Amino acid sequence: MKNSKMVQYYYLGRGAISHLQELLDNKRADEEKSFVVLVIDDYFENKNILDLSYLKQQDLIIYADTREEPKTSYVDQLTNLVKTKEHLPVALVGIGGGSAMDIAKAISVLLTNPGPSEEYQGWDLVKNAPIYKIGIPTIAGTGAEFTRTAVLTGPTKKLGINSDHSVFDQVILDADLLKTVPIDQFVYTAMDCYVHNAESLLGMINDSMTIALAEKASELIEEIFLGEMDHEKLLVASSMGGLAVANSSVGICHPLSYGLSIELGLHHGYAICIAFNQLDEYYPQVKKFKEILKKYNIVLPKVINDDITDEQLDRMAEATLKNEKPLSNAFGADWKNVFSKEKVIELLKKM
Ligand code: NAD
Ligand code: ZN
Repeated sequence: MKNSKMVQYYYLGRGAISHLQELLDNKRADEEKSFVVLVIDDYFENKNILDLSYLKQQDLIIYADTREEPKTSYVDQLTNLVKTKEHLPVALVGIGGGSAMDIAKAISVLLTNPGPSEEYQGWDLVKNAPIYKIGIPTIAGTGAEFTRTAVLTGPTKKLGINSDHSVFDQVILDADLLKTVPIDQFVYTAMDCYVHNAESLLGMINDSMTIALAEKASELIEEIFLGEMDHEKLLVASSMGGLAVANSSVGICHPLSYGLSIELGLHHGYAICIAFNQLDEYYPQVKKFKEILKKYNIVLPKVINDDITDEQLDRMAEATLKNEKPLSNAFGADWKNVFSKEKVIELLKKM
């Protein structure tokens, strides 16, 4: 039985981001010295979408480059930048998708724990309490706003800082922030939620809370993408999916997507879609997923094409098979006897 940590507070509603100022001001013990750090997806730089006029001179805004998914080296570099200040910040805010939010989550942990981020990739390796942190999604699906992980890509592995200390203290869910997301990216990230739910539901590690949350989140995603688009409902589905997967594990699709991402540099949601599209033999949800792609005129390319060498395929299969926990969630403890390297390569070749 697990003692599950959750986000303590959340605001939900259009315009909810207007509460950020009071949340930050409540943390400032000293008007002149207390400072906050905002990690904002660089899409918002010079766009006049976010009103940050209330920030103080001493505050630090970091516009995070999310062209690549967060790397351990990048997070270490940003942590060192914050450390050049005389004190620790009183709050850290992550505004963006899974990438910007995970960077903020990781920095909040690294500011109070020694050593580079790579040392904390894994489960429950963080000892000291982190800096207070707030998550504000501007695209929905990863569930990063509600999970206990900050996913980072290191030199050899893509693995999260899985810890109760990675959980945001406060979340702000404001549908207005999602208005500018391009439609294809919107679908890729939302499908991450759909796939988390499928993997939780069909896996072996779950409990009645996970099942209830994942079932409802899937139903919402189907309603939104096959019926009427509703950004607020999507934020709710993403949050529920995050909570569900936090108490469960991903399954077959995520390990395959990690292989694709590490070798080919594909973004998470996109790699998830390419992998899930070929997993009908494991997940009945692939049928609805294909209907959603069709409705939004999204045609996924074949990424494992003639340019891919056998060595690359081998590395992708190895990267997939490193994911023991998800694969044992999907197939059980003897997963190695069921899901062979040959099978992984056969699936990859279809993608
Ligand atoms: P992302 O954060 O990588 O952003 C994708 C793109 O959308 C970027 O180009 C970004 O600039 C753009 N974008 C974001 N908000 C926008 C807006 N409002 N308008 C226009 N463009 C906008 O995408 P993501 O899919 O949310 O996150 C993927 C990352 O999340 C991966 O690194 C993945 O590993 C991680 N992840 C984390 C968790 C977790 O629990 N921590 C779970 C799943 C995935
Ligand atoms: Zn995911």
